[in-house]
Amino acid sequence: MPTKKVIKKVNKKTKRHIQQTNVHRRKRKRRRIKKSVLIGFIAIIVAICAIIFVPKTIQNSKLKDLGYDSQTIKAIRKQNLQKEIIDNQYYSDYLAQEILNDTVKEEYLDLYSVRTSDAPLEEKDFLLYHRLLDKGYSRQQANNLFKQLRFYEITPLLVFDYQVLESTYIKDCLDHRDINSETHFELTNDYYTEYENTLPVDDQSSNAMLVNKTYYLSSDYVPANITELSVVYAAQDVSLASEAAEAFMAWVDAGMDLGVRFYAASAYRPYSHQEELYNDYIASMGQEQADALSARPGFSEHQTGLTVDLASVNSDGISEYKDTNEYTWTSTNCQDYGWILRYPEGKTQITGYDFESWHYRYVGVEIAQAVVASNLTYDEYYCLYLKPWNDQSLAYGTNANQSTTPTTAPTTQDA
Ligand SMILES: [Zn+2]
Repeated sequence: MPTKKVIKKVNKKTKRHIQQTNVHRRKRKRRRIKKSVLIGFIAIIVAICAIIFVPKTIQNSKLKDLGYDSQTIKAIRKQNLQKEIIDNQYYSDYLAQEILNDTVKEEYLDLYSVRTSDAPLEEKDFLLYHRLLDKGYSRQQANNLFKQLRFYEITPLLVFDYQVLESTYIKDCLDHRDINSETHFELTNDYYTEYENTLPVDDQSSNAMLVNKTYYLSSDYVPANITELSVVYAAQDVSLASEAAEAFMAWVDAGMDLGVRFYAASAYRPYSHQEELYNDYIASMGQEQADALSARPGFSEHQTGLTVDLASVNSDGISEYKDTNEYTWTSTNCQDYGWILRYPEGKTQITGYDFESWHYRYVGVEIAQAVVASNLTYDEYYCLYLKPWNDQSLAYGTNANQSTTPTTAPTTQDA
């Protein structure tokens, strides 16, 4: 039997052991708590990183799949275009290049994605794009047109009727690629229903007004300040609006200094005169022929007082004008005097008139020079740069400024 003393010693030892064990347990517990806090903390960090980086990685991989390289992907992120590009699957080498150059316009990513580097977009393309939308084309239709056609193939659509099936028009253009250019444009089908969806002239007081087989002048329209030209400059009883008359005389004088001699065979025609002319044509050749050769009353530019038919002093009448030196000179220099050749050769499809070498229209020097530089017909130029917008919210950028605001009458056919 152990003595009392021994028992006491053992108890003391056990007590100490228990105490020590408890201390260890407490330390272990504290360590366990510390460890789980750390794990939790790491888990949060990992989760945050995952939230941030996983979608980015997924996006990057989607952009890569579309065809973008890592440098372009960086630029896409910098410009914050990734969502729109991925959602719409936009890609073209041209778009990638423009993004890399930081020259892309965000609102036209769709348009960039249908173009190639050899047909880069210019300011006038964006304007044309908006004019198409304003005319009723959807973005999808406009993209199809810009994907396959050139600028000069699209601009006639601003003059033509709205085409529900733009694909038919595109095919017609592609079929004529070998003969069409900026200076010659013809198609198989007709896209312009003459005298059908007619509208009054936008602004009868503007020298820039467009009068064609769509836009007409009212029957009582008479230009302000009609001035009769002296016989030095014109046949008898020939008048122009005063600003056009001044510009015309300056033009004739400049030609005369060079030995180029031309005069106004006809200019302002009142509504009633045009009516007589047109009815005579109908009586002699029927309406179809009459429409091809003469404007219906109200639809003739001659009623504006801003139009002249030229003749050379060295030949008879306007129909022979094309073969004269005078034609060569006036057709090349007209814009410097504020005039344009209104119905050029090779553009009948757009103007609705056969080539008229003699028929010139005053629009002012600034617009005349811009029209010639553009290679567009005035119908197209007006609809692209000068026409008021149907939907003002689509108006793009700053439009070109509106312009401030023979003894026997010729019998040859004329608009
Ligand atoms: Zn004429």
